[in-house]
Amino acid sequence: MLPISPALVWFREDFRLADNAALSDASRCGAPLLCFTILDDAHIQGAAVRWWLDGALHALNAQLQARGGKLHVFRGKSELIVREIVQKTGAQSIFWNRRYDLPGRQTDAAIKAELKNNGIAVHSHIGALLNEPWTVKTRSGAPFQVFKPFWREARELFLPRSPLAVPSGLTFASLPAALSEVCFNPDNYSLRPDCPDWAVGLRETWIPGEEEAHALLDSFMSRDLTAYATSRDFPGENTSSHLSPYLRFGHITPAQVWHAVEEKAHRDSEAGAAKFLAELGWREFAWSLLFAHDDLATRNLRPAFDAMPWRKDGRALKAWQTGRTGYPLVDAGMRELWHTGWMHNRVRMVVASFLVKHLLIDWREGERWFADTLVDYDPASNAMNWQWNAGTGVESAPYFRVMNPVLQSQKFDPKGVYIRRWVPELASLPDEFIHTPWEAGETSGNESRQGYPSPIVDHREARDRALAAWRDLRAD
Ligand SMILES: Cc1cc2nc3c(=O)[nH]c(=O)nc-3n(C[C@H](O)[C@H](O)[C@H](O)COP(=O)(O)OP(=O)(O)OC[C@H]3O[C@@H](n4cnc5c(N)ncnc54)[C@H](O)[C@@H]3O)c2cc1C
Repeated sequence: MLPISPALVWFREDFRLADNAALSDASRCGAPLLCFTILDDAHIQGAAVRWWLDGALHALNAQLQARGGKLHVFRGKSELIVREIVQKTGAQSIFWNRRYDLPGRQTDAAIKAELKNNGIAVHSHIGALLNEPWTVKTRSGAPFQVFKPFWREARELFLPRSPLAVPSGLTFASLPAALSEVCFNPDNYSLRPDCPDWAVGLRETWIPGEEEAHALLDSFMSRDLTAYATSRDFPGENTSSHLSPYLRFGHITPAQVWHAVEEKAHRDSEAGAAKFLAELGWREFAWSLLFAHDDLATRNLRPAFDAMPWRKDGRALKAWQTGRTGYPLVDAGMRELWHTGWMHNRVRMVVASFLVKHLLIDWREGERWFADTLVDYDPASNAMNWQWNAGTGVESAPYFRVMNPVLQSQKFDPKGVYIRRWVPELASLPDEFIHTPWEAGETSGNESRQGYPSPIVDHREARDRALAAWRDLRAD
């Protein structure tokens, strides 16, 4: 009797067992499963993302091992690896959840075409979104440019459903010897930094994986969502869910989060539920924008900004990246990012505005820095938010609205809780100077801020320079 050929399950940005449409579908087809992923440099960006991916692979491998299986990890060009796996296993079917960025779509389309030509069945399913990005359209069939109507339409389209359970009774195929040789040893996927090991803070902050994602969601749901709605802008209060990297790597799906929020809202008549769901809506909106504009991370959606006289100032950029601008809230945010791979949303807005307006540095520099340092970096949310904050995108905050980093600090971190956490040089300054340490003079506590820089730009002068550049642009 011929051995039964396996059904292949290709994990990409969906490192979970529950609510995984591809895995559930594969589990019903009757063949033993061969689960794999491919580390393809064309599809992995960012040092922090690589660090997370390492943890994601370990976590999923452990889950599969507990059920008698394994996650087989290959490295190389996706097209070649899939071809080799199919040839050496004799698989007749492959299952995956769809990707929506251009490189992902192009790779998948090419692989699908080749496999279908060879008589292999390809089963693809909705990926990490509530709605596929091409389905949410205006009445005239165009992509939405504005969030509110987008979200109204997206909510109508999305049919809330109970998330899929982890398929029971999974059976697994073993890997043919010819493939074992090219497969990674799970001890080392070569994704962790070693020389130097800059990931200490990331390890202290995060546990990648599906189990932790649900623990976080449960803990968030046990809190009061009304408090989320009122205090999510206050970085010292830490009231947001911290789910972003878990959504990014598909440890949890937006449908699962939606379901949990709806259940809680019914139970507790939660006022903040709509606000929280709308944040998921921004994520959907970002993907729909990226789908409509593949070059969202590199091209100003408002072409007028192509003539903006961005400054090339390596020292200022470095000061921003390393949290040494002399503006405490900006520096606290950039240090939080460096240490944990994450930054509070309000602070992301402040640091983005500071780079683009106070330093007059091209938003794409900031986009690239975030792409390298964020554990939740995704090409859609990052690019959309940078364009939004720079004023270069559709429905953006206008460029002339320059966030004052001192006022933002006074308003959203009034006691300096967040600043003191991330800028220890300022920890013992009295509250009245925590937002403007340069005014502290010889007051008590000031001696401890040795080494903390004076502001690299004067707020008023920098603001005037940004507005003048913007006015010239409009006059041209
Ligand atoms: C300049 C800039 C760059 C950003 N880059 C990214 C990025 O690369 N990846 C990323 O996931 N988010 C990005 N964001 C959006 C936002 O800051 C994070 O999603 C949020 O801080 C994550 O924390 P949380 O999970 O606690 O959010 P919560 O407030 O708990 O929100 C729940 C979820 O909604 C989504 N969400 C919330 N706010 C936004 C938003 N403004 N845009 C898109 N989705 C949102 C996230 O998936 C988040 O996990 C960026 C924001 C700015 C201003």
